[in-house]
Amino acid sequence: MVPAVVDDQPEVRQATPQLREELAREGRSLESATPQEIIRWAVDRFGGKLTMATAFGPEGCLIIHWLATISPSTYVFNLDTGYQFPETIELRDRIAKRYGIDVVLEKPATTVEEYERLHGGPIHRTDPDRCCGDRKLSIVTRVLANYDAWMSGIRRDQSPDRAAAPIVGWDHKFGVVKVSPLANWTKAKVWDVIIKENVPYNPLHDKGYVSIGCAPCTRSVTMGEDERAGRWSGSAKTECGLHSR
Ligand code: SF4
Repeated sequence: MVPAVVDDQPEVRQATPQLREELAREGRSLESATPQEIIRWAVDRFGGKLTMATAFGPEGCLIIHWLATISPSTYVFNLDTGYQFPETIELRDRIAKRYGIDVVLEKPATTVEEYERLHGGPIHRTDPDRCCGDRKLSIVTRVLANYDAWMSGIRRDQSPDRAAAPIVGWDHKFGVVKVSPLANWTKAKVWDVIIKENVPYNPLHDKGYVSIGCAPCTRSVTMGEDERAGRWSGSAKTECGLHSR
């Protein structure tokens, strides 16, 4: 029996005016802080109610690298859609070995087989918004219901959608605080630290893949192409919806 995909979502929490004021103030002040200082602030402010989501991109791996020293018990999860590259799953194990941080593979309500049977085949080409909604957003909604704040590795210069991302702000979509310690960093700066400090990264980056998501929706890019050109290539879609309002 194939389980039905659950469409009902819990009501989204709202920030109090006091919290909004605090976030605006802290956001301004943390603009000049280092990512480690921002992570430390988030850990001190939210304690066990802070979590982190990662797709094991270079930014996420770098945050885990710092988190291993600052707060290794922070709950870190990955959206295990069932469509990820084997190299991505293997990176999860390398990170666990190196840092002792076991990133939890959080799964959607259905396996890939069940999901494709429900829809008469894969829908990542025909209806990628639905697919991302069912296999990514539903997981984040479920996990974040237990937390007050989440961290992500997004950077403002990754895409126009992310250009205004605050270091700390209210996430209207999921009803929690969102912390982006690398929001004002560049790709070059991220890779500089990864190489210098020997941080584990996805080997697909050495094969022309810049931004890596699910295998069917990711291709390698050529010189001069946009950083996220390899995601949902050939369609108008640019984001899975996690980081857009
Ligand atoms: Fe589905 Fe592609 Fe979104 Fe992954 S990235 S959830 S395969 S549409």
